[in-house]
Amino acid sequence: MSPFNLILLGAPGSGKGVQCEFLLKHYGLAHISTGNILRQEVAAESDLGIEAKLFMDKGLYVPDELIFRILEKELASKKCSKGFILDGVPRTLAQAEALDDIMTKQNKSLSKAINLEVREQTLVSRIVNRRSCLKCGRVYNLIGMPPKTAGKCDDCQTDLFHRADDNEETVRKRFAEYESKTKQPLVDFYTRKGILLSLDGEIRKEDLFQMICNNLDMSNK
Ligand code: AMP
Repeated sequence: MSPFNLILLGAPGSGKGVQCEFLLKHYGLAHISTGNILRQEVAAESDLGIEAKLFMDKGLYVPDELIFRILEKELASKKCSKGFILDGVPRTLAQAEALDDIMTKQNKSLSKAINLEVREQTLVSRIVNRRSCLKCGRVYNLIGMPPKTAGKCDDCQTDLFHRADDNEETVRKRFAEYESKTKQPLVDFYTRKGILLSLDGEIRKEDLFQMICNNLDMSNK
């Protein structure tokens, strides 16, 4: 089977993280989450992290220039040669165009852009109950998918944290950013390329995963 190079599109809380985990395990792909990378840079207080934090704390997108640097470095890494998932990137048309250029230079191509559709009210309630592991990036939900031991990651036992930007006010801003800067431009962009797969992100996560796999496996025959 040839490797899949995938993009996951969806507002914050649309279930990208969960579907990503399923896909990574099932197809053995590399995971590139710009949100996780940026949070690690913020925690390390690097130059990139200090600049990014100014935007992240307000629920705004960080400048495209920072994302181009991350993408170029990550896609060239060896782990990406067997296929990868881009999670939370691209988020602007400029990022999608830069991604195209980087991939062409590296002789790679995208297999699918998977778009998860979820209503704003569902997103808000999912997000205020979200907890994440800083070390491995695994995401939990205190109501729908709690950790086995309260406050600890099931996989690596690291303390879970509540992201500073996972509050209702910031979520609504992030949703507005997503609608205007990401959803329409990128849905159009990947529709034109003939690789968009739009799915209802409110159905059971296992059923959603099955639909994604069916579609990927069909397109790979
Ligand atoms: P996420 O974990 O993907 O929800 O990202 C958390 C925050 O990091 C976002 O609200 C943005 O401030 C920033 N961020 C992550 N990825 C990107 C991106 N591709 N473009 C711009 N900002 C990003």
